[in-house]
Amino acid sequence: MRTTVGIIGAGPAGLLLARLLHTAGIASVVLEGRDRGHVEGRQRAGILEQGTVDVLRAAGAGERLDREGLRHDGIELRFARRRHRVDFPGLTGGRSVWVYAQTEVCKDLIALQLAEGGPLLFEAPALAVEDAATDRPRVRFRQGGTEDVLECDYVVGCDGFWGVARRAVPAGSARVFERTYPYGWLGILADAPPSHHELVYARHDRGFALLSMRSPSVSRLYLQVPEGTDAGEWADEEIWDELTRRFETGDGWTLERGPVTQKSVTPMRSYVHEPMRHGRLFLAGDAAHIVPPTGAKGLNLAVGDVVTLARALVHERDTGSATLLDAYSATCLRRVWQAERFSYDMTGLLHRAPGATPFEDRIQLARLERIASCRAAETDLAEAYTGFPFG
Ligand SMILES: Cc1cc2nc3c(=O)[nH]c(=O)nc-3n(C[C@H](O)[C@H](O)[C@H](O)COP(=O)(O)OP(=O)(O)OC[C@H]3O[C@@H](n4cnc5c(N)ncnc54)[C@H](O)[C@@H]3O)c2cc1C
Repeated sequence: MRTTVGIIGAGPAGLLLARLLHTAGIASVVLEGRDRGHVEGRQRAGILEQGTVDVLRAAGAGERLDREGLRHDGIELRFARRRHRVDFPGLTGGRSVWVYAQTEVCKDLIALQLAEGGPLLFEAPALAVEDAATDRPRVRFRQGGTEDVLECDYVVGCDGFWGVARRAVPAGSARVFERTYPYGWLGILADAPPSHHELVYARHDRGFALLSMRSPSVSRLYLQVPEGTDAGEWADEEIWDELTRRFETGDGWTLERGPVTQKSVTPMRSYVHEPMRHGRLFLAGDAAHIVPPTGAKGLNLAVGDVVTLARALVHERDTGSATLLDAYSATCLRRVWQAERFSYDMTGLLHRAPGATPFEDRIQLARLERIASCRAAETDLAEAYTGFPFG
């Protein structure tokens, strides 16, 4: 099999790249290791930045998003039983975010790709990227029990943190920056109307909690838990009780409960692989970088990468110049490091590290007070949350 751009992975990065290339008239093949149901059902991110929404609309994938997505003009910070709302449009000159789940973004892009785009092969895991540093890179993959080869002009690894593409980069050509955190997020999906119309980020002496939502009738809630926690250790009622404690305010606010339909633990990690290119192999999305989810940046970073890459591939096709492709890694990394910084700051601001001292607790509260009382500090948060510009 032969194509112009071989894409490994049908997460948001791979699917959107295939769509952008298709609309620009560049052929691609997407190889996805899992089946369609798995990809469409995997609960992950839920916050889309303004720039991401604009890109999805321009790519023809905004119809359901516009109908079912929830525009959010702010978030609430909750600490010391107090509430402080951060008003995004007022602080950023009109920017907002949208609540529209990653599962739905993937469903929309898969439907478009199958109806109009190039081949999208499910249950076709890539085994290795070969000859990445030559003009004829190849992807070895398996489908239906047999091995095959996809020959390409370019290969893009959109295969997430655990994929195979990154392994094709020789260790001596890359530098990795990494930090793990001594806690994770226990996340639940519940058939309960959201108890607040915007996301609530709570800092509590017992740990962080986040109130989010998927729709007007489905809540998504998270609790900070120790690293290595098994979701099964927590009974549903225990989760609700703990959420209630951490969201407690002094004004009688209550948390709506409902049947828990899904429960899982997400570990927290910061990770950057530099550069995001080796020869004709490009890395995009989680294959190149990971952020802790506190800043809601993972999916949005993946979108920024593939927008930058699609532009560069179109530029190369139209002008014969590889300038933008050569700049791909540096262009993306500027935005990636800003998102890494913001995600790290938000995580440190709101989570309680094991063994945190009373001094550190007071510093956290002082940082929150500063955001609540200083427009410059609040604007910095609002600008970062609603999104850094694409390169
Ligand atoms: C459990 C979890 C919870 C998260 N929660 C949030 C959140 O609440 N908020 C937030 O902003 N972000 C969250 N994220 C991050 C966000 O979901 C990711 O940043 C986003 O999915 C990145 O998209 P991607 O396309 O780069 O990678 P992925 O979505 O990981 O997609 C990679 C795809 O490649 C496929 N693949 C892997 N290996 C191969 C192979 N060898 N061959 C073929 N296909 C392969 C995978 O099956 C997958 O479909 C979460 C991530 C995880 C893992």
